[in-house]
Amino acid sequence: MTHQLESIPPIDYQQLIETIYHETKHLAQLGKVADYIPALARVNPDLFGLSVVTQEGKLHYAGDHEVPFSIQSVSKLFTFTLAFSHLGSSIWNRLDREPSGTSFNSLIQLEYEHGIPRNPFINAGAIVVADLLLDLCKDPLESLLSFIQELSGNNQVNYNEDVAESERLTGHRNFALAHFMKSFRNIHNPVEKVLDIYFHQCAIEMNTDSLAQSVSFLVHNGINPLNGKTVLNPSQAKRLKALMLTTGLYNESGDFAFRVGMPAKSGVGGGIVALIPDVLSIAGFSPALNEKGNSIACIEAMERFTTYSGKSIF
Ligand code: GLU
Repeated sequence: MTHQLESIPPIDYQQLIETIYHETKHLAQLGKVADYIPALARVNPDLFGLSVVTQEGKLHYAGDHEVPFSIQSVSKLFTFTLAFSHLGSSIWNRLDREPSGTSFNSLIQLEYEHGIPRNPFINAGAIVVADLLLDLCKDPLESLLSFIQELSGNNQVNYNEDVAESERLTGHRNFALAHFMKSFRNIHNPVEKVLDIYFHQCAIEMNTDSLAQSVSFLVHNGINPLNGKTVLNPSQAKRLKALMLTTGLYNESGDFAFRVGMPAKSGVGGGIVALIPDVLSIAGFSPALNEKGNSIACIEAMERFTTYSGKSIF
């Protein structure tokens, strides 16, 4: 007797994200927009966008996918990638690569760990990366912006100066973190200059279409599919995805890996970007956050995405 393999129909990602969008949109009501930075407190909490870019480069979207938002800590992914591509493993002289288990702007661990941040995706780690970029690039803000524009294929991506200024005026914890690390000699440049990079990177704006596209290089093992350029070598790309899985959602990284099963990075602007190597990347934006500072609707949407599609990294 012969068994015929039934061919499995390809997943209709457009239909899938539209379904998930409608199922999860109401969840924004359960969260709270970040209000510790005045410019973020003014964002409409009802916005919700989802975008998927497949390995073949096809874009699918639902909701407010064209509305630019403040990517905040998602920018830590790009600054780290830029510094890592220049420095390779010597970057680990200044940073660790362990989950922190503490909130994104915590000072506590830095004291016992002699000013070495637990990972590049908490604020302390990103501030060290900003310090590295000052040494690596002649004009770090210019280099960072063109790097992100190339990855996203969108030359409209830009800094929002009002948000950057709002961050500076209220960034007391970030000043504290930078000065504290400087006392351990883990910040080399003047604190004001380092934080100018940090506050600006947080104030980068883009929509979910561009954000999903901007991590396609990790779907393609380190190569930007838009221009064929190597962004990271395969070993570096592997390490970055491992860091995203273990540290990308602050002290909710374990729960996100458990529920969703994708390497990801979140920001308090309400954005989350995630990916499945060789398959696709997905970005979501919904500004209402849970108490860990992550978007409630985006997490639920991504959990449904991997559950319904049967695709994750596990
Ligand atoms: N600009 C924010 C801060 O430094 C970034 C926080 C985030 O998205 O985690 O407080």
